[in-house]
Amino acid sequence: MSGKRTFTMIKPTAYKNNCTGQIIQKIYEGGFHIAAMKITKLSKKDAEKFYEIHAERPFYGELVDFMSSGPIVAAILEKENAVEDYRKLIGATNPAEAEKGTVRAMCGTSIGENAVHGSDSDDNAKIEGDFFFSERELH
Ligand code: GDP
Repeated sequence: MSGKRTFTMIKPTAYKNNCTGQIIQKIYEGGFHIAAMKITKLSKKDAEKFYEIHAERPFYGELVDFMSSGPIVAAILEKENAVEDYRKLIGATNPAEAEKGTVRAMCGTSIGENAVHGSDSDDNAKIEGDFFFSERELH
């Protein structure tokens, strides 16, 4: 069982398409507590740093450009087994392959513009949450 916190971002296209409300609704229906949330925008440098682990992948440049192209919603979510349960809630990386009813199936438009980010481990959830929020912004 993974820990209590995960980190998510609503990506630029989903934010622009007014999917934020639906996604927050799914988060609550999934039994998560929203411990922190804000609308912000990544600079190209921020996005490069956030996605550093993907630097060698062929889509890195595209990913960085996309993630810094417009506002995003960043949030820390809490629940037992948060990392794993949130990845189930969002579905497969490619929205075309994501199970019906998942966030990516609902709001994703392509493999790159797949509506949301979800941490893939407890360690990354902590690193990613700390990238956006200070302790006093957690409730
Ligand atoms: P995730 O953990 O499901 O988000 O997937 P990954 O860790 O494999 O990839 C990180 C992010 O990179 C994904 O959420 C996508 O936004 C993006 N990505 C992954 N594969 C591709 C691809 O083939 N093309 C593009 N343009 N972006 C991709």
